[in-house]
Amino acid sequence: MAETLLVQPDTKFLREVIGSGGADLKKCYQCATCSVVCTLSTDEAPFPRRQMLAAQWGLKDRVLSDPAIWLCHNCGDCTTHCPRGARPGDVFGALRREAIKYFTWPRFLGRWVNNPQMLPLLVLVPLLLFGALWAWGPEADSVYPGRMEFANQFPIPVLEALFFSLSGFVLLSFAIGMTRFVRALRAGGATAPILANLPGTLAEIATHRRFADCGAERTRYWGHLLTLWGFVGLAAVGTIVGLGHMAGLVHTPLAATSPLKIFANLAAAGSLIGVAILVADRAGDPLKRTRSTYFDWFFLIVLAGVIVTGFASQFLRQGQVPGMYLVYYVHLVLIFLLLGYAPYSKLAHFCYRTVAMAAVRERREAIMLENRSKGS
Ligand code: SF4
Ligand code: SF4
Repeated sequence: MAETLLVQPDTKFLREVIGSGGADLKKCYQCATCSVVCTLSTDEAPFPRRQMLAAQWGLKDRVLSDPAIWLCHNCGDCTTHCPRGARPGDVFGALRREAIKYFTWPRFLGRWVNNPQMLPLLVLVPLLLFGALWAWGPEADSVYPGRMEFANQFPIPVLEALFFSLSGFVLLSFAIGMTRFVRALRAGGATAPILANLPGTLAEIATHRRFADCGAERTRYWGHLLTLWGFVGLAAVGTIVGLGHMAGLVHTPLAATSPLKIFANLAAAGSLIGVAILVADRAGDPLKRTRSTYFDWFFLIVLAGVIVTGFASQFLRQGQVPGMYLVYYVHLVLIFLLLGYAPYSKLAHFCYRTVAMAAVRERREAIMLENRSKGS
C-alpha cells in the first residue's frame, strides 16, 4: 500500500511571507515559466517554481533550509514573465527576510528590525546613548584646548569601548545565526564541506561573478560591487584606526593627507556612488521588476546617511563650524543603526548568501562547466 504523506502547512509562516512582500504567492499555478527564464536556475537545481510550491504549502522548514532562496539575485526576470503575476522574485525576497528572522539571534531583534513600527524605538536607543555621552562627556575644549574637535564632546575611549562591545555582540549574533543556518542546510540534505568552500565562494562574491552571469543586471552589478567594496574598505579602515588607536600606534584625528584618511574617503565615495546607483535602479524601474520594501530602503538610507554625515563632519571640522558636533552626533547614531542591527538587516544577506553558495558550490561548478562546454 502506498505511503500517505501528510503535509502540515505552517499557516503563520504563510501569513508572514505574504505580509513580508510575498503578497502574490498564492497566484502561482506552477507553470514553471519562472524557472525556465531564470538564468541562474539549472535543470539539476531549479528555482524558483519548486520553492514557490513549498512556500504555498507553508513548508517552512523545507523552504528556509533550501539554499536556492539565496542563489537568486532578485533581478525580477521571472516576475516580468510570470503569466499569473505571482511575482516570484518578490516572494524570494520575502523568504530571505523570513530566513533571517528565523535563524538570527536574538529573534526578537530580527522581528523588530524588520518591522517599520519598531523603527522609533530602534533609533531611540542610539539617540539616547550618544545623547547621554554628549551631555555628560568632557567639558568643551578640555581635550584639545582652543580647537573644536569631536573628542572634546565625545570621549574617544568611551566610543571605542562602546563600538568594540557592539561589534562583539554583532559577531556573536552572526555566529549563532550561521550555526543555526548550517544545521538547517545539513538537515535539508546539503553535504558539501562548507568551510572548505568558503575561500572560493568569497572570491566569487568579491568579483560578483553570478551577477555578471545574470545578463539583465549590469546596472545593479556595478551598484552592488561599488557598495560592497566601499563598505569593506570603510570597515577595514575603521577597525585599523580603532585598534591602532587603542594600541597607541595611530593618532586621531587623522590628517587630511594621511593614507588611511585618503583611502577611507575613496572607499566612502565609491560606496556612495554604489548606493546612488542602487537607489536609482529601484526608483526608476519602469517594468516594476522588483518591489522595494522597507527592508531594502532601511539599509540603503542608513548607509548613505553614514557616508554623507561622515563627509559633512569632516568638512565642518576643517572649517571649525559649530554645527559639526550635531552632525557628528547624527553620524554616530547612524553608524550604530548600520553596525548594531547588521545581523537582522540586509547586511546579513552577505553571510547567509556566502554560506548557502558554499553549501552548493561543487554542484554549481559542475553545472556551470557543463553549460560552458555545451555553449563552446
Ligand atoms: S511563479 Fe508564475 S511563472 Fe513561476 S510557476 Fe508560478 S505561475 Fe508559473
Ligand atoms: S529574480 Fe532573477 S535570479 Fe531570482 S529567481 Fe527570478 S529570474 Fe532568477
